[in-house]
Amino acid sequence: MLDGKETDIMMNAATLRELLADAIQRLSDLSKSPRLDAEVLMAAALEQSRSYLLAWPERLPEPEQVARFTAWLERRLLGEPVAYLLGYREFWSLELEVTPDTLIPRPETELLVELALERLSVARSLNIVDLGTGSGAIAMALASERPKACCIATDASPAALVVAQRNAQRLNLTNIAFREGDWCAPLVGERFDLIAANPPYIAAADSHWAMGGLCFEPRAALVAGVDGLDALRKIIAQVPDYLKADGWLVLEHGYDQGESVPALMQEQGFVEVSDHRDAAGWPRTTCGRWPG
Ligand code: GLN
Repeated sequence: MLDGKETDIMMNAATLRELLADAIQRLSDLSKSPRLDAEVLMAAALEQSRSYLLAWPERLPEPEQVARFTAWLERRLLGEPVAYLLGYREFWSLELEVTPDTLIPRPETELLVELALERLSVARSLNIVDLGTGSGAIAMALASERPKACCIATDASPAALVVAQRNAQRLNLTNIAFREGDWCAPLVGERFDLIAANPPYIAAADSHWAMGGLCFEPRAALVAGVDGLDALRKIIAQVPDYLKADGWLVLEHGYDQGESVPALMQEQGFVEVSDHRDAAGWPRTTCGRWPG
């Protein structure tokens, strides 16, 4: 039997390998990626890269580093997402600040960025909109890849816009303007070459809502009415007044909305409507051209 003191000594004397193995085991019931979570938190606690952990598995971290890691681990075990613990998340190779006022950018949204970039010429100076920008993920990715473009990022949440503006400043992206308001409301009287959005698309009764870390994220960024299509319907109805002839609408949607969203766009009068699958194989993003 170990008394408290001996346990403390053992904890302080644990190697990176031992601390990580213990954390991975404790996280395995809760997280889909227990090793990644543990490594990312440990690397941040040590202010080192993840490769450092692999290079020095026998290192004994300082007690303050262990304390920081343990505090994050306990919060992670209560379901809090890693991105909120650290305050940032990487998207399109850009490090973005995220807070509980913003959705955590998802890897599947990089598909939307790819599809939008395919429709945005490098040579021309184009006008782009990201509706419901949240942390600014889509706007930042497009503005950094198309420095000649003028990008407008809207959000109904002033708190999210503050985070998005800080991200643009830190990344030195001067070609993004931020406007507060619901979907196209802040765009009255203007027309654009491309409008992108990753709106809320989860149905209110969907059990996914209670799963994983979703309950830590802003509900308004995730849930959209009984069938999850409320926001998508509004955007599809509004956008024709804001697109130039031959302008594009690129919309992310739920895994089970790969038929309904293209159908809504066709009914509205969009042409060349196509739906695209994400890396996990789920229908995820619809594109359509407004004939004008
Ligand atoms: N556009 C942001 C993102 O893709 C926020 C989306 C949202 O809050 N629904 O991460």
